[in-house]
Amino acid sequence: MIELRGKSVADAHKTALQNKIAAVGDAVITMAVLLVGNDHGAHMYATFMEKTAKNFGYGFVLRELPETASHDEVVTALRELNDDDTVHGILPLMPMPKHIDTEALIDALDPKKDIDGLTTYNIGLVTAGKGGFAPCTAKACMAILDHYDISVEGKHVVVVGRSQVIGKPVAFMTLAAHGTVTICHSRTPDLANYVKQGDIVIAAAGRPHMITADMIKPGAVVIDVGINELNGKTVGDVDYDAVKDIASAITPVPGGVGSVTTTIMLEAVYEAYHA
Ligand code: NAP
Repeated sequence: MIELRGKSVADAHKTALQNKIAAVGDAVITMAVLLVGNDHGAHMYATFMEKTAKNFGYGFVLRELPETASHDEVVTALRELNDDDTVHGILPLMPMPKHIDTEALIDALDPKKDIDGLTTYNIGLVTAGKGGFAPCTAKACMAILDHYDISVEGKHVVVVGRSQVIGKPVAFMTLAAHGTVTICHSRTPDLANYVKQGDIVIAAAGRPHMITADMIKPGAVVIDVGINELNGKTVGDVDYDAVKDIASAITPVPGGVGSVTTTIMLEAVYEAYHA
């Protein structure tokens, strides 16, 4: 069994990106985070992203609004970032306060600065296989497969989860890579029957240890996107300890997909700089 560790994938991508950035000269590639309200996780992620971006030599703008900000005030703040030529990529952090219409907000985001592939425009491009910014977590799954030379072509890919940020885009990306793709979700009856057919299983449901050893075909490749708390520990959607003896390759949690996603976002900011 090969453990598909994210660090070596992230390191390889970082090195390639640093080489590209060296060619940029004195220009400051800058990302912005739009943070609204008091969500603890969003604040933690904003701090983490600021440190990561600055350590990488990028500029960083934090546009923070209080919990009481109106929908229109948040849209205005986003439009200001759209119009700011010194800002190349924008990440609106979720969750936002309940009174914010996040769907409408996201469609006010300039698609050329949409580094996490949230806008309908970029979803359309990704779905059509015409490029565009894709969600970084979905790209991280593909980067892991690519780094470890795991071909998708002709394989049966079973994706568990159909969210706009992971399940759907990774399904379209594996389809574009010539996989035969099945998408499962919470209304799929007899999930095990589908997962068992997967040469590649991508678990993105957010349910701790829901993919058990008896659901995995011997030799399958397992990409675990889930990040969950179970008995005080961070675990994936896959019961790693049991599945590792059956799969030919598997990502750990933590240390798998999550450790690649941030580097993929830094790449997206660079792409936005060139857009
Ligand atoms: P989400 O929006 O809640 O979507 C979960 C999806 O899983 C939905 O499509 C849901 O089906 C499906 N699902 C839920 N329970 C299921 C079940 N019992 N059987 C089959 N399908 C089921 O979550 P998300 O944002 O996509 O995130 C998924 C996981 O990835 C979470 O654990 C999250 O923390 C993690 N994540 C990881 C990263 C990373 O970098 N590694 C980044 C973001 C998120 P319905 O559509 O029918 O409801």
